[in-house]
Amino acid sequence: MWVYDDPVAAMRDGMRLSRAMTYKAAVAELALGGGKGVIMVPPHIKLSRERRHAALLDFADTVDSVDGRYITAEDVGTSSRDMSLIATRTPHVAGLSRRRGGSGDPSPMTSLGVYIAIQSCCERVFGSPSLRGRSISLLGLGHVGQRVARRCLRDGARLLAADVDPGKRATAERLGARWMTPERALEADVDVLSPCALGGVLNDETVPRLRCRIVAGAANNQLASDEIADLLAARGILWAPDFVANAGGLINIAEEAGGYDPAAARRRVRGIAGTLRQIFDDSESIGATPLTAALELARKRLFVPASSARPV
Ligand code: NAD
Repeated sequence: MWVYDDPVAAMRDGMRLSRAMTYKAAVAELALGGGKGVIMVPPHIKLSRERRHAALLDFADTVDSVDGRYITAEDVGTSSRDMSLIATRTPHVAGLSRRRGGSGDPSPMTSLGVYIAIQSCCERVFGSPSLRGRSISLLGLGHVGQRVARRCLRDGARLLAADVDPGKRATAERLGARWMTPERALEADVDVLSPCALGGVLNDETVPRLRCRIVAGAANNQLASDEIADLLAARGILWAPDFVANAGGLINIAEEAGGYDPAAARRRVRGIAGTLRQIFDDSESIGATPLTAALELARKRLFVPASSARPV
């Protein structure tokens, strides 16, 4: 659920996010397709509790109308409580609370995957996955960002943190991170930039101003367009494709199908390290960007017959 200027912008975002979901599931070897639901909030409208409730129920009915071909789950602007509300109208909801037989909030597993992606990039660029002494600038202290921050700080990284919400300053300081404006955090001279807010953060204007060696974060659709991957490579910045780095939540949700086992989910999320290693190796051997190598891997895996893909 997000604010969009007009329905075309919302539709475009939904289509781009769906494409990313398809690639995310394929690279993670899940027998899931791709889909994303977008609930558009018009600009300058403050949703009352009642209207928000009604919008979520309308959305639930839409999900239900496609008979399980689309399964919804929590993402930006929604909560696990919202998923429980949606579940009153359709069974096609994932990520319900553990008490209700679901796998719960996907953010912890997403953040584990992002942390592993940061380590994998450090291994590629600096020769060691250790984060001790590494400087990291993190954009967006939300559900995922805060957890990524905590993990990196625990490993001895130095952390800068930023959020458009000034109320997150106290959170940053409590965690032990240095607070900055998003503008300054984006351009900070650091080892790693970790975008954990919204998409489109890497574009023609921002990439020339980056002073990091690595970009690895949770945000979906970080690149304003695919060509930005070339711009990053030309600047010698290693980018962990977002749909690989942030797949932890989806991998976790997919584990619900066979009876949820958090240990098994964690093991699979840790597999993101091997996937990134393969993508970076392929990218070096074919002389292409990590985006091209990741898309190629996704396409190859999309054509694996469903019977040999892992059932969910
Ligand atoms: P969230 O809504 O909890 O947090 C987002 C945070 O980013 C908020 O604190 C918000 O104030 C901040 N923010 C928004 N615009 C910003 C900007 N321009 N600069 C700095 N901060 C800004 O969302 P989340 O669940 O933590 O997800 C973060 C990102 O990761 C999203 O792009 C989401 O689609 C993606 N993602 C999340 C999950 C998950 O499991 N939650 C899974 C895959 C991908």
